[in-house]
Amino acid sequence: MFENISNPARHALKGKEVTFDARVNSVLKSDFPGQLSLELRVQETFLRANVDAKAIGDGAWEKAQKLTPESIVRVAGHIHLLVEKAQANGDGVHTNGHQDAASDIAYAVYVVDLAVIAQASPNLPSFHRDELTEFEFEERLNNRILDVRNAATGAIFKFHSGMCQLMVEFLCSNGFHWIHTPRIISATIAGDNEFFHLPYFGRDAWLAQSSQHHKQMALSMDMQRVFEIGPVFRAEIKSRASARHMTEFTVLDIGMVIQDDYHEVVEMIESMLVFVFRGLQERKQYRYLIDIVEKLYPSAKKFRIGLDEHGKIPRITFLEARRILREELGFEADDKKDFTDQEEAALGRHFRASAHLGQTDLFTIDQYPASMRQFNSQANPDDPWFSNTWDTIAGGREICSGSQRINSHDELCEAMRANVCGAPLDPEAEKWHAYMTAFKAGMPRHGGCGLGVNRLLQSFLGLNDVREATLFPRDVNRLAP
Ligand code: ATP
Repeated sequence: MFENISNPARHALKGKEVTFDARVNSVLKSDFPGQLSLELRVQETFLRANVDAKAIGDGAWEKAQKLTPESIVRVAGHIHLLVEKAQANGDGVHTNGHQDAASDIAYAVYVVDLAVIAQASPNLPSFHRDELTEFEFEERLNNRILDVRNAATGAIFKFHSGMCQLMVEFLCSNGFHWIHTPRIISATIAGDNEFFHLPYFGRDAWLAQSSQHHKQMALSMDMQRVFEIGPVFRAEIKSRASARHMTEFTVLDIGMVIQDDYHEVVEMIESMLVFVFRGLQERKQYRYLIDIVEKLYPSAKKFRIGLDEHGKIPRITFLEARRILREELGFEADDKKDFTDQEEAALGRHFRASAHLGQTDLFTIDQYPASMRQFNSQANPDDPWFSNTWDTIAGGREICSGSQRINSHDELCEAMRANVCGAPLDPEAEKWHAYMTAFKAGMPRHGGCGLGVNRLLQSFLGLNDVREATLFPRDVNRLAP
């Protein structure tokens, strides 16, 4: 019977004859002629395979002797030993410090048949170490395929998948439609040099920095609630050194029609984040992965979701965050400036440590000054110096920016001409035509956000660098693999 050895219910296989595919983690020496010991790896599970020439026959034995680490074998045999962790090490059943993280049980199999499915080249670099230093990170990225075979790194991308699945589950069950908007666009904002330019059949085109404008157009199509998960591109010079910026990253873009109040949008996103984080921490298929990640990433820590007395994540205003920084954390905080990375990190530590703030790694900062947000952000009706905009902070860094957008055509034209955050924009210009049409045609009141999926994962797992949470990262220096 072909079995999934990495299945959490594998202890039920004890004593049974099973067939499974595995990677050779290492070839262990045996003192006995005609016998070979292999350490096999199936996802996060390690087991010892005892291979006997007589049992598998001459042809298979010849191939078995040439096996190299990272080769793939199909093995048939009896799962004959289940040993608790303490015994396992003493017994030599489990080697290289690798332990079956899911259940702390080690396995051995007496092989009765063995076939080589893929023979790996000898002398591949080894990334199956329990500790990888910062110095090795670039080298790991250069060898990303082998790196992600490491159980801890692999677990990060299982979380990535889980995170996206949970987002989709939440959004679809709340009436959102999944849309796909173009990555090749024809309009940019003058002076914004973070766009990648693209020659396009004799014309100019650019790669999208976000889905925002097309998402708004979809709302003008009466789609009511829309989302998209996809790549965006930014020519961020700072990605050369920043641990939170890349030039290509994945964004969850969300847009929805507002019934009464802009906070409907904020609450929707807050609820989604709680749903996603809780799902990752509590659902059986994900929760065991955290221990696996922690084995290799010392910075990884358990993410805390502290809810207030109403069951919501804490929410403070921009000014209150500035006050905390100034009065409680000793920063020379300037109310006219956005938060620096250091200030966000300090706020993150403060919220995590403070009982009255919910001891949380997740909170919202609401009501940013209008001058810090895009031209189409809706001003706060009670005080237009502020805007109906927010940032979500997770693990001490911004993971999401959201806002109510102006929906009136006339107001939007006015806001473009005034543009509080840059050079004036001309709403009559040809390049704005398609976008402005959505407003001329009558745009519902709406809001939404852009949420960086890689950064969300980085924050959830407490990883040092956003590229650790990105399968094939792109930055100023990196275009491969
Ligand atoms: P930051 O201030 O950190 O540069 P931003 O304000 O430019 O971010 P937005 O334009 O609001 O970011 O983008 C929405 C989200 O996309 C951010 O909250 C963040 O999670 C993510 N993000 C933005 N820029 C990058 C980047 N260069 N690399 C990875 N993720 C990013």
